[in-house]
Amino acid sequence: MTHIQDEIQAITEELPEGTRLVAVSKYHPSEAIREAYEVGQRVFGESHVQELQQKHAELPEDIEWHFIGHLQTNKVKYLAPYVSLIHAVDSERLLAEINRQAIKCNRRIRVLLQLHVALEETKYGLTTDECWQMLEQGHWRDMAGVEICGIMCMASNVDDEERIASDFERAHSFFLRARETFFAHQPSFCECSWGMSDDYPIALRHGSTLVRIGSRIFGQRVY
Ligand SMILES: *Cc1c(COP(=O)(O)O)cnc(C)c1O
Repeated sequence: MTHIQDEIQAITEELPEGTRLVAVSKYHPSEAIREAYEVGQRVFGESHVQELQQKHAELPEDIEWHFIGHLQTNKVKYLAPYVSLIHAVDSERLLAEINRQAIKCNRRIRVLLQLHVALEETKYGLTTDECWQMLEQGHWRDMAGVEICGIMCMASNVDDEERIASDFERAHSFFLRARETFFAHQPSFCECSWGMSDDYPIALRHGSTLVRIGSRIFGQRVY
């Protein structure tokens, strides 16, 4: 067993029923992914389109590729034929483009809406108000090529565990309200994507169903 394989197994054993591991393989070579694949890992997260294109071409067909990074609208077309879940949809414009490209490929692409709940300023992610408004306006209901399956967020990049827990809790309570209000008849709205190498144990206590773990498995990334 290699280090990667040990970590995959240790994390998978820790996960509660109903929670899945997204092994975040960005900046790591295809050989590292193969090692994880050999112990049964099938879900991998990447955040750069070109890198994902290359890995998708090289690696087994039954891998579920999750795109977890910021996605530019002009790149959606490259992923549309095969991507399994897009985690970080943060505008209606992006959602509409995913819809357009999915229809071209005869697919329905699963997506999550990214909430900005962290302390740090960033241009990515919707505020809870913006996200609620988008759901209320309802244009997504006419988009046959996308299926909104839940919420994604990143917690504040701090050591304060209470702050991290409260970020996840805000996202979780938003998820519950949205599910009740807009998705009561759509059981596929069920995913909460939060928790990374340093904070996933907290995420698991606050409703996470998808943990996105990179460095703990694959080691530090060399950029
Ligand atoms: C890189 C990345 C991760 C994984 O981070 P680690 O700290 O290496 O576990 C998770 N989510 C997103 C959106 C990322 O870009």
